[in-house]
Amino acid sequence: MAEVRTIAVIGAGIMGRGIAHAAALGGYRTILEDILPTALRKAETEIRANLDKAVEIGKVTKDAADEAFERLEYASSVEQAAREADLVIEAVPEEMESKIEIFTLLDKVSRPGTILASNTSSLSVTEISSVTYRAPKCVGMHFFNPVHKMKLLEVVRALETDDETLAAAVEVGKHMGKEVVVIKESPGFITSRINAMIGNEAFYMLQEGVASAHDIDKALKLGLNHPMGPFEMVDLVGLDTRLHILEYLHKTLGEKFRPAPLLVQYVKAGRLGRKAGRGVYEYPQQEPGKGEAGKQKSMGEVVSGEQK
Ligand code: NAD
Repeated sequence: MAEVRTIAVIGAGIMGRGIAHAAALGGYRTILEDILPTALRKAETEIRANLDKAVEIGKVTKDAADEAFERLEYASSVEQAAREADLVIEAVPEEMESKIEIFTLLDKVSRPGTILASNTSSLSVTEISSVTYRAPKCVGMHFFNPVHKMKLLEVVRALETDDETLAAAVEVGKHMGKEVVVIKESPGFITSRINAMIGNEAFYMLQEGVASAHDIDKALKLGLNHPMGPFEMVDLVGLDTRLHILEYLHKTLGEKFRPAPLLVQYVKAGRLGRKAGRGVYEYPQQEPGKGEAGKQKSMGEVVSGEQK
């Protein structure tokens, strides 16, 4: 099996910085890259804060956290990040054009044996990898938000992914402390397909005035034992990301995934969720490291525009 020692992560947003955190803690030399220098600075601050928090609650020793932080490097270009990597994990926005652009470049600048993985939540890894000369070395690695806390990793076998690449992705996932589920490529995999369906239905209900966002969340938590309500969840995921996923599922799986008009409106209004300070709910400015932790206490008041 291909040995992985160095991991490059492309895109240092919500997911990229979490993947880098878990990779460094898993013992890998980790190089994080983003097109925006500010995203890299934010990622460094968030990762340090999340590691410190893990030490505080006794999940990680101080030495392990410090060593993980030392293993992290930051790069200002895809070329610089990918040059020495054995595995590159792409975590740029959920748009096919962006993924294709990055994979075309990665194929040129990475060593021939380097594995290229996408953290896409829904898109076809077969289509993304078709722009490379190494489709057998391409795989999906779908992590969950927040990555440093969530146990699952979906490893997605695309049409041409070879056994060695699949095994390496599973192995890396385990070293990063994840439980791994291997699936054959299908739009939205297991989790995004189900989650998008529930979240979209919740927006239709809000739009129809069936109940307030707060009460829909409350009903699913207390009545169906969901740990988070669908609106708390979409604010964490990002409404833009959810909309991209639904648009793709609508295109590939049909009418039942048509995005709710209210969700589309929220995205147009810039209400993208926690990362924008407001989504379905509003969020006061948060300290670094406390942004995506799903803190129920900080859940703001229901925004005035919400349909009752
Ligand atoms: P995000 O918007 O938080 O971050 C994306 C980052 O990519 C930004 O920092 C942006 O500056 C950077 N970027 C954009 N173009 C780039 C380029 N050409 N080169 C380098 N960096 C670039 O998005 P996210 O929520 O982290 O989502 C990233 C991927 O992870 C998407 O495919 C998404 O579907 C998937 N995902 C998201 C979640 C979630 O809950 N948000 C969960 C699982 C998977």
